[in-house]
Amino acid sequence: MLKGKNAIVTGSTSGIGQAIATAMAAAGCNVMLNGFGKPEEIEKIKKYLTDKYKIKVEYSPADMSKPDDIAKMVSDTAKAFGSVDILCNNAGIQFTAPVEKFPDDKWNAILAINLSASFHAIKHALPIMRAKKWGRIVNTISVHGLVGSVDKAAYVAAKHGLVGLTRVVALETAQDGITCNGICPGWVLTPLVETQVEDKAKQEGKDVDKAKHDLVDEKQPTHLFVKPEDIGALAVFLCGENSSSITGSAITIDGGWTAE
Ligand code: NAD
Repeated sequence: MLKGKNAIVTGSTSGIGQAIATAMAAAGCNVMLNGFGKPEEIEKIKKYLTDKYKIKVEYSPADMSKPDDIAKMVSDTAKAFGSVDILCNNAGIQFTAPVEKFPDDKWNAILAINLSASFHAIKHALPIMRAKKWGRIVNTISVHGLVGSVDKAAYVAAKHGLVGLTRVVALETAQDGITCNGICPGWVLTPLVETQVEDKAKQEGKDVDKAKHDLVDEKQPTHLFVKPEDIGALAVFLCGENSSSITGSAITIDGGWTAE
């Protein structure tokens, strides 16, 4: 479906990003991986995707909090594959605390990685997409781009900002064969959420399994976690020809969280 296209997926050494990279590879896309992790683990992901899907896979160690690293990741991708057709801005971090106790350095890091990184990556990738008159930008947002939750000031602010950035980029590229959309997942059981589950279990004196169920039951009418591979499939759909009229959208995949 996306044979011969070239994609960057940031934060693809774990969780949702890894699922998006896998779905892109399965659809025939060459993939630039990015994110932190042990070199041998990253090599394992690279080898798995290359062997299974017979596509090209490269890895960029760019730190998404550093604009120069982001510029280099985009130019390295164009050099390695010939273009950047698809950009999935997915890397993200979380920290929870009440607003008056929220550490300044955590605020700055969350805003840099969860919001500004997408701005920098889009800024550098757009001229390459415009030259080919085709491009797809898919931002991993969150239900927290649409609603708030306590103790998540920086995360909610960054994700609401990312909805705004998605809309503006969609408008500025509307007649250029380029779309820009956001995916807004509810709870997905990844390392980012496992830390929150463990904290909740400790705070409330529960076992981790009970805390996991309570977390998802409280917000998602389905009482089920969203599966990373379903988000990967949605990202691939947003990059396909049938979605060329979907742009500027923030699409929920949240088990009904925001329907309430
Ligand atoms: P995760 O912790 O499993 O993965 C995060 C990825 O981002 C990792 O590959 C990590 O190495 C990378 N990363 C972190 N900081 C980085 C940096 N400075 N530079 C480069 N890479 C960096 O988390 P996840 O749950 O898969 O989260 C992925 C995205 O999905 C995030 O944007 C998150 O906000 C969003 N999201 C997650 C959930 C959820 O419930 N897990 C729900 C909605 C949205």
